Amino acid sequence: MQSIRGTTKLAGVIGKPLAHTLSPAIHNAAYAQLSLDWVYVPLEVPDEAGLRRVVAATGSLPFVGFNVTMPYKQAVMELVDEVSTAAVMAGAVNAVQISEDGRSVGYNTDGRGLIEALEVEADFTPADKDIVVLGAGGAAGAAVVALMLGRASRITVVNRNVEKAEELVERLGRHGGSVLLEVEEPGMARDVVVGADLVLNATPLGMRTGDPSPVPAEWVRPGQVRFDMVYGTSSPTAFVTDGRDAGAVALDGLGMLVAQAAIAIDMWNEGSTVKAPRDLMKKAAEAALDARMGDMEVNDGSGA
Ligand code: NAP
Repeated sequence: MQSIRGTTKLAGVIGKPLAHTLSPAIHNAAYAQLSLDWVYVPLEVPDEAGLRRVVAATGSLPFVGFNVTMPYKQAVMELVDEVSTAAVMAGAVNAVQISEDGRSVGYNTDGRGLIEALEVEADFTPADKDIVVLGAGGAAGAAVVALMLGRASRITVVNRNVEKAEELVERLGRHGGSVLLEVEEPGMARDVVVGADLVLNATPLGMRTGDPSPVPAEWVRPGQVRFDMVYGTSSPTAFVTDGRDAGAVALDGLGMLVAQAAIAIDMWNEGSTVKAPRDLMKKAAEAALDARMGDMEVNDGSGA
């Protein structure tokens, strides 16, 4: 752990619960490597009244920025001075930058983290690709926005609650450009899932031991990329295992967690040409996971 001095600047993650968050381990490892005089702390707040007080205080304290995780990614949007266009489209903010004068700008680095992880771990870029997103919550929204910005050719949203998928597609369709945005009912999605270049799990299914895959085991094609946003489980999720068994390239969400953290650090450390050390951060995440694995069955689902 880096030493704390009178000059040390602050960063942290606001959410509830945070007992098992990996973010302090990931961030503080990077700050030490980059010789940044910063410290990253968990900031658990009990409710939205607490969120308002903490966000207001960050402007008067030496914060470089902070992350926001469940359940406050939507509520924080009303509390910052400005929200980036991509975060408005995603409907969620997970990283806030604070300038010297205390002004706060909210971003969504989850979607960019996903794109970075896909590129680094699967050599996959979304341009001209046919993609299925399972889920229609905050993480799915961030993913769809990032995949749209990456010029996917078609994105099909499949969600248990079909109306929620339709709302997401209707909201984002206005910004779609040439991207074809569609909804498919879960029971009818076989062909679109099997035919896709990338299938993304943006539901929490897989977080708990014994959870089924969000799609039947046989809905997979060799060579297809499967990305599970779930991470930190004691063994690979059914979604990842089914994919690997069938010859797909199947990844869990740890690389995305690390990439969204790295993107936030690069943003807060603007002006520096040295990038956050992704490999070291991933090792720190894995070490923190190993340390907590003994007494945990599920991850925190925080996405931060
Ligand atoms: P959310 O806003 O609560 O959305 C959850 C979505 O999953 C909803 O569309 C919900 O469908 C669906 N769902 C929930 N339980 C389901 C079930 N049993 N069967 C089928 N569908 C189900 O959550 P979120 O913030 O989007 O997060 C989703 C997952 O992504 C979490 O596991 C989170 O940890 C992970 N995540 C990971 C990262 C990362 O960096 N790796 C980042 C962000 C999030 P309904 O609409 O029908 O309820």
